[in-house]
Amino acid sequence: MTDRGAILVTGGAGYIGSHCCKALAEAGYRPVCFDNFSTGHRRFVRWGPMVTGDVRDRRQLQAAFQSYDFSAVMHFAASSLVGESVTDPQKYYANNVGGTMALLSVMRGAGCGRLVFSSTGAVYGNAGSDPIPESAPRFPVNPYGKSKLMIEEILSDYRQAYDLNSICFRYFNASGADASGTIGEYRDPETHLIPRAMMSLQGEVPNFGIFGDDYDTPDGTAVRDYIHVTDLASAHVQAVNMLLGDHAGGAYNLGTGVGYSVSEILSAIFAEAGCKMPLVYHPRRPGDPSVLIADSSVARMHLGFNPIHSNLGTIIRTAWNWHTKGAFEQLRGGR
Ligand code: UDP
Repeated sequence: MTDRGAILVTGGAGYIGSHCCKALAEAGYRPVCFDNFSTGHRRFVRWGPMVTGDVRDRRQLQAAFQSYDFSAVMHFAASSLVGESVTDPQKYYANNVGGTMALLSVMRGAGCGRLVFSSTGAVYGNAGSDPIPESAPRFPVNPYGKSKLMIEEILSDYRQAYDLNSICFRYFNASGADASGTIGEYRDPETHLIPRAMMSLQGEVPNFGIFGDDYDTPDGTAVRDYIHVTDLASAHVQAVNMLLGDHAGGAYNLGTGVGYSVSEILSAIFAEAGCKMPLVYHPRRPGDPSVLIADSSVARMHLGFNPIHSNLGTIIRTAWNWHTKGAFEQLRGGR
């Protein structure tokens, strides 16, 4: 296969980062995973070299840039627990904003001017409109979302001032797993709906429940836009292609434009698993909006974004495949 060059993937041992490494390798790039393994998994580094390092450490980053001639960077390394960001904001501003500042200064020093940044739909906060376009007001309601918005603003200024073009992707609900069942979603603690429900069916999560049944939605449970991680990975590779082809950069929503309620997600999981559990209702989780659906028409138009894996059946089937395969079992057992 042709070698299209080395791409630095910070946080490449995480959920979305590892799927992007696989997609980069399949597209002929050489993904170099740079990860401090605070939450990432060594077993997820399968498609290129692994560099153990922290994005806040300029010297470790510089050493990576001396070892490889990176044509672009995908930046995932970040702290990403919304609740923790409220109780420990310093960690979020230091890791997310501080880490990105260190990365940007090393990139500029090395003459690398192409970046794909992992942002979030959380930059919109409690958006008034559904579906949400990129032009919607951005008022994040927690330090996690604020830290990502700050980085977007920094990148916008850098785009104007320097030869450093970037594409920011605001993901909605990343979900599903690679069809191989070798990589997928696993965090400790796990807070997300689909993996928590699946782990609960497997007897791993006690007290699983639905947060809120009194939302202003058809069945009273909250509605989200679930986007398959393989579609996210394709979008990231396409972004690298376009930045290397002189795309000026910008910020794009990545979602499907279709929403599913928590109850609908659980029904789909029970159907796939062939078993169910009694439904328990908890109060609303603080800060959860009732409906979040992306308008991704700009990404479709400008980047050719086409989320072909993001139907609910494929999302749930690949997630359950990951949860019931040996790789997940080994990871959970620390083997
Ligand atoms: N949720 C739930 N029970 C759980 C975890 C999540 O009812 O154990 C709900 C949550 O309140 C939200 C939706 O599922 O309405 C999706 O939550 P998740 O944490 O997966 O993603 P978020 O939309 O918060 O980024």
